[in-house]
Amino acid sequence: MLNPSFKFCVAMTLTIALGGCSGGGDGGSSSGGGGSSDENTTPATPVENFTFNIDNSVTEETTEFFVTQIKNEVGSSITVLNEIPNFFDNNQVPILYKMCGFENAYYSPAERGITFCHELGELAYSLFRENALNAEFSEQDAHSYGFNNAIRMTDFVIFHEIGHALDDIRDDIGIGGNFESVADAIAVVLSVQTGQPNNAVSGAYFFNNLPSTNSLFDEHGNNADRTGDIMCWVTGSSSNAAAAFPNWVAGFNQSGRDCVGEYQSQLQFVTDILPGLGSVRPVASIRAKSHTSTVNVEFLYRSVEGMASGYFSAN
Ligand SMILES: [Zn+2]
Repeated sequence: MLNPSFKFCVAMTLTIALGGCSGGGDGGSSSGGGGSSDENTTPATPVENFTFNIDNSVTEETTEFFVTQIKNEVGSSITVLNEIPNFFDNNQVPILYKMCGFENAYYSPAERGITFCHELGELAYSLFRENALNAEFSEQDAHSYGFNNAIRMTDFVIFHEIGHALDDIRDDIGIGGNFESVADAIAVVLSVQTGQPNNAVSGAYFFNNLPSTNSLFDEHGNNADRTGDIMCWVTGSSSNAAAAFPNWVAGFNQSGRDCVGEYQSQLQFVTDILPGLGSVRPVASIRAKSHTSTVNVEFLYRSVEGMASGYFSAN
């Protein structure tokens, strides 16, 4: 099996002509340190909700450029959530981007930390890139499309895991039964409320197109259900989003699903847990300008619109 990072390296070197693949490890990473607790002293600076670090396994195997991109792009999505006070009752949840040897992402209750596996990003990258190549994008545009959507999907999946962290750490979340759908709802709300609804759209596209032989996210609902829910909540979140996906909206209407109402109640649920949610800045205002902002959103939307018929033709 190919070393997954090789694909990234090849693509990077090809299109961005940035030094060799083997360089990179400049000591820029540090695994999340222990959160110290000084409960007896007067409350100093409140603890930040999240730290985001890239593991040495990634810095050693990919390019410095790639590591910087992940730090900027994914890092800014996380950092913006630090503006919301006290997510986790004064606990800090480290988020680590690392090579796992498998494609997944998870929240560990024992460590109270989130891990996103680089291999999962690679899988998303290949899937999106392939899609663009099939639509006759140039090699460079296909790389850019794959990379940007992989970043968005990464953000969305991390937001999903943040949902699990909330469920584990906060005592005031009264949800019984399957939390997976709730975690997706939290991820959609966090995406939309931080001005990144496309994180959810890329996530939906990814789940929809995940090879059925892939056992990824086994404990979750099937990928079709997840895709449908995510698209319902995204299109229900604003008139702009609804206008971007007329086929989805028509399908949901025909099947009697009230996506506007569903999003409103998800938003209420998350706002009850995180009252500071409304005051968070859109992530674009803190994100360093990069090629992510020039992404071909139109092609993503067209691809996702094309999925709608598969969902509603049977009804
Ligand atoms: Zn989950």
